[in-house]
Amino acid sequence: MTPSHSPLMTLDQALEQILASITPIESVETQAIMDAFGHILAESIHSPLNVPPYQNSAMDGYAVRGADLPAHGDTTLELIGTSWAGTPFANEVGEKQCVRIMTGAKMPEGADTVIMQEDVQKTEQQITIGDEHRGGQHVRHIGEDIRKGEEVLQPGKLLKAAELGLLASLGIAEVQVRRPLKAAFFSTGDELCAIGEPLQEGQIYDSNRYTIFGMLKGLGVEIHDLGVIRDQREEVEAAFSRAAELADIVFTSGGVSVGDADFVKQTLEKLGTVNLWKIAMKPGKPLAFGRIGNAYFFGLPGNPVSAMATFYQVALPALHKLMGKTPEPPLRLKLRCLDKLKKKPGRLDFQRGILQYDGDELVVRGVGAQGSHILSSMSRANCFIILSAEQGTVEIGSKVEVQPFSSLM
Ligand code: AMP
Ligand code: MG
Repeated sequence: MTPSHSPLMTLDQALEQILASITPIESVETQAIMDAFGHILAESIHSPLNVPPYQNSAMDGYAVRGADLPAHGDTTLELIGTSWAGTPFANEVGEKQCVRIMTGAKMPEGADTVIMQEDVQKTEQQITIGDEHRGGQHVRHIGEDIRKGEEVLQPGKLLKAAELGLLASLGIAEVQVRRPLKAAFFSTGDELCAIGEPLQEGQIYDSNRYTIFGMLKGLGVEIHDLGVIRDQREEVEAAFSRAAELADIVFTSGGVSVGDADFVKQTLEKLGTVNLWKIAMKPGKPLAFGRIGNAYFFGLPGNPVSAMATFYQVALPALHKLMGKTPEPPLRLKLRCLDKLKKKPGRLDFQRGILQYDGDELVVRGVGAQGSHILSSMSRANCFIILSAEQGTVEIGSKVEVQPFSSLM
């Protein structure tokens, strides 16, 4: 008989194997840019124009000729009109002349410098300026932000607010994006009660389905919730088959710890392939990964904190690869820890922490109880404190590595 679990492996080893087996989805669709929000760009975007498209003023003030700026003392210029944002001044600014100009308005012919309105003395038809100005000041130049033909976005970019605005600023109405991922999930365990049903003796409410839902929702994934499935072979098998038909990726929680593992393994070996791993991380030791039909499969641990930690640390990079997203450099901070954090050497630990500003520097605190069943710790926390396998107990005031949740969600 083969053992249900291979020996302990490191998180990096597991990630390497998982990522190597994932092929990004190929299908691409054309979407209006608002509908493309939260999707992954599938093409390279080159700018069809210069941004800004014309020289304009960075200030409310007066457009003048740099050559007319006085070297010493004051000079007086004749005011010959106004350039409004959207309604440029039609004529040229001649010697010793100026034009009233608004922020963003086109610089009139002949003028190359803007004097802030606060810096002039104005009469009806004239302004007087001093010698403190620099030729060319307060002017935004053609193509200063983006040059025509320049690549502004690369395939693999997640389209968020700034990208939509950037596309709109180039007059681009539609883009090619990868089609959204489809994910299905269900929970297994006879002790689980679906919310809305009365809790029987020895039961707990199923919470993992809701955390998994929330984590997937933030990724713009199409979601199929298959509910709570009893620990019975036929039910579990039917749920796996249905999930694999509906989705590109299937998540379950529970049933992968040593006691239950054979059951999941036998069920899945009929429908696909599965690896049951013990990963040297805490929380989240047991993990199943494999394929069911054409879908990828993650069997997350049942303990609520383990399910979340494993999702973020293992499944998220896999989801990103599957959706075609270009990996971003991970955001990690080295911060002073204000609490003592208990730890035994042996496993890579993802403790829950609270990242905060103490008025002088960023610091981190622990959240107290770190049990893998204490889901409230995830809600109180805003970061993982990552402690290496070799690390022992962290003493008050020492530096620890911190991964903000905001960089994951
Ligand atoms: P298991 O991996 O199935 O042995 O479950 C490990 C622990 O997680 C047990 O205490 C389960 O009751 C709990 N658990 C499993 N699935 C869920 C779930 N969907 N929601 C909340 N707790 C769960
Ligand atoms: Mg179970």
